[in-house]
This record gives sequence, structure tokens and C-alpha cells, in this order.
Amino acid sequence: MVEFNEVKISRILNPTAIDLGEYVINPFMGCEFSCLYCYVRSNRVVSRKNKPWGEYVDIRINAPELLEKELLLKKPQAVLLGSTTECFQPIEKKYRLTRRILEILNQHKIYYVILSRSPYIVDYIPVLKQGFCKKIYFSINNYAQEFKIRLEPKSPAFALRDEAVRELLKEGIPVVPYFSPMFPWVSDISGVFDKFPLAEGIEFECLNFRLNNIREIIAGISARDPSLKEKYVNMLRDKAFYNRVWQDMEKKIQILAKSAKKSYNIYIHSFGGYFKNTYE
Ligand code: SF4
Repeated sequence: MVEFNEVKISRILNPTAIDLGEYVINPFMGCEFSCLYCYVRSNRVVSRKNKPWGEYVDIRINAPELLEKELLLKKPQAVLLGSTTECFQPIEKKYRLTRRILEILNQHKIYYVILSRSPYIVDYIPVLKQGFCKKIYFSINNYAQEFKIRLEPKSPAFALRDEAVRELLKEGIPVVPYFSPMFPWVSDISGVFDKFPLAEGIEFECLNFRLNNIREIIAGISARDPSLKEKYVNMLRDKAFYNRVWQDMEKKIQILAKSAKKSYNIYIHSFGGYFKNTYE
């Protein structure tokens, strides 16, 4: 059961090191989708919450009013929405904070990039078509339901996400199908380029083995397929093996992209160390 809390915050535009905007905007703290691999779980602010990720959402009810004021002071050129939450999660249907934020950004002629995996975003197409949406990175994936139950039981179905990407593309909105995270031996990338005829290319992000809860992720995968445990543990321990697995994966993507005449990008996280997430 997700606990929803209406909260007031003191700042909505937060400076960021992510090169997709000068500031990030997160209308909520927390996320109903509760993906096990979510990097926000490793965030120091979230770790201080003392509540499991996915079991609460703080609704920042004064976000639009704050945004109006802060835009006048900070005058950003471009902002990023959804760095630590899903802006289009189900509770947005009730509060419409993201909608009001997008409308304000449009009015002030400020460009924005959005990170999302929620098909609900298609309801906002008229707002997104006003010329200030620079890019949407829309997360897609493809693996068996038995894995999904363990890795992202509450996120929208993959087929619905694919459909949302096609709808956005059809409307001329600059959306990038973002295949993330790629789970070796689990994610099925075959046919991925054929799913989005209107997309120029696809971006791929490999699973980050430096997440604080990587052992929990491996346990979830191994519960479905015990033969994968050793391979995943080896990826944690053996740099050469780790690099080889991702290089092989990239070769497969290269072949698929070439045959579909599409472009691709792949983000491989470096081996070792711990993930430090200080995003707000
Ligand atoms: S939808 Fe995004 S923010 Fe929400 S839990 Fe999943 S990865 Fe995290």
C-alpha cells in the first residue's frame, strides 16, 4: 500500500550535474512504480526517509507556484523533469502537478527534457506539442513476465510503453526509445528496432552493477533462473568478464541496428566501485 503525503517544499528548481538541463524538476518525491533497479534507491535523501522505496509518494503541492517565482529569479534556458521520480505516475492524474509545470514552462518559453516510462504521458500530447519539449527519453524494455514480477512488478506493461512511444513519435514529439536497463541473458533486444519505424535510433543503458542494492537485484533474477546467479556474481567480481558480456551485447545491437538501418547509442557503466547518487 502506497502512502501519499501532501507536502510543501521550499525549492523546485534544483541545480544538477546531469547535462540535460541546468536544473531538475521533480513534482513528487517517491514513485509508485517501485522498480527494483531504480537508481534513486541509492540516493542519500531517500536513504534518510526510513521507508521502503515505492511505498510512499510525497506530493509537492506548491511546486507550480514555486516554479513561477523561481523562473523569474533563475531564468534557466532548459530544465530536466523526472530525474528522481516518475512525473506521470498514477497519482499525477489526481493532482496534475506535472501538467501545470509543463504549462508554466511553455508560457515562459523554457525548453525541457523529460525522463519517463509512463504511458499516461500521451494524455499530455497537446501540451508537449507546443514547441518547448526538447526531448523525451522514454524507458522501454522486454523480458518475461516472471522476471518483471521480480524487477518492476508495478511499472506499466512493456507493450503499453512501446505503444506510447509510437504514439508520441506519430505526433512528431522528439522521443527517444530508451532501452533501460539492459539485463544480460534476461532482456530480449531482438526486434527492438522494428518496433519503432518512426524513430531514428534507440539508446541502450546497461544495468549498473554499482547500485547499492545490486545483490537484491541478482537475488530477484536468480529466483526466476538460478543458472544466472553465477554469471551475475561473476560480472560483479571479474572485470574482464564484465567487459566481455557488454561488448558482446553491443555487437548484437550493432548487427540489429545495421540491418534495420537505424542508429544506436549504448551506455556501459564502468566496472567496480560504488554508485554515488546525490541527485535531488
Ligand atoms: S519509474 Fe523511474 S523513478 Fe519510478 S521507480 Fe521506476 S526507475 Fe525509479
